[in-house]
Amino acid sequence: MTQAHSHGTALVTGASAGIGATYADRLAKRGHDLILVARDAARLEELATRLRAETGADVEVFRADLTDPADLARLEDRLAHDSAIDLVVNNAGAALFGGFLEHGPEQIENLVRLNIVAVARLANAAAKAFNARGRGTLINVGSVVALLPEYRSVVYGATKAFVLYLTQGLNEEIGGAGVKLQAVLPGATRTEIWERSGRDPAALDPARTMDVDELVDAALAGLDKGELVTIPSLLDPAEWDAFQAARLKMAPNLSNAHPADRYGVRVPIDA
Ligand code: NAP
Repeated sequence: MTQAHSHGTALVTGASAGIGATYADRLAKRGHDLILVARDAARLEELATRLRAETGADVEVFRADLTDPADLARLEDRLAHDSAIDLVVNNAGAALFGGFLEHGPEQIENLVRLNIVAVARLANAAAKAFNARGRGTLINVGSVVALLPEYRSVVYGATKAFVLYLTQGLNEEIGGAGVKLQAVLPGATRTEIWERSGRDPAALDPARTMDVDELVDAALAGLDKGELVTIPSLLDPAEWDAFQAARLKMAPNLSNAHPADRYGVRVPIDA
């Protein structure tokens, strides 16, 4: 068990690089102890050593391949039983570029295991623990591609739409005074994800690609403001509000006893 400091323990998945490593840095500096999760134990140890020295935080390395059922179960168990953990950053993820027709069954399965199965199971374990204690914060890292099927990132985008829905839906169930939820939707951000998924990072448009430090600092500022959905790039938050309002306007009309007249199925009452 980790020892609880004033800000409790934050568990960060995908902490060996990119967005997760930056969250680890910022959360240690905010006074959290840390549990760092990823496959590359050497990189996690290196980060842990630096953060212990710089911040005095208690930092533990938890090596896990989140596509491995045994590793995932060990982490769920830790979330269920370590009452010091009061913040989870569900961040580990991968991308899959190229057209859907180019992807094989194994690639799709691995991506879904990491970006959906692990995210949902860790969210479930964290939600149960936080709800029982009446406090805790769950941050799920999605992506703006969740909103953009037109960007042709079919299976990756669909996994990120899952993350957004999961967060919004879970907020209806348990969000409230003590339990905070946040979905963070980064746009293109300079990390290793591009090389890892076979993209040349040099091809990224610098005017539309964010530095990872700014991304995480903005995401944490959004958390502090109490935002359920944080889109660091979006200049005008009224655009998101309008999108939500348009969706909810449809809500009362999405389940009816009869199909709409335009389908020609229902016999009009006065026929
Ligand atoms: P990254 O630099 O490639 O880092 C990915 C992290 O996930 C690494 O720490 C990696 O560590 C870990 N990881 C990968 N596979 C894993 C596995 N099987 N088990 C456990 N950990 C695993 O990517 P990033 O850009 O920081 O991405 C973080 C999150 O942000 C992802 O969910 C991604 O979809 C999302 N996002 C990124 C961007 C972007 O442009 N960068 C945009 C939108 C959303 P190991 O290799 O050591 O396991």
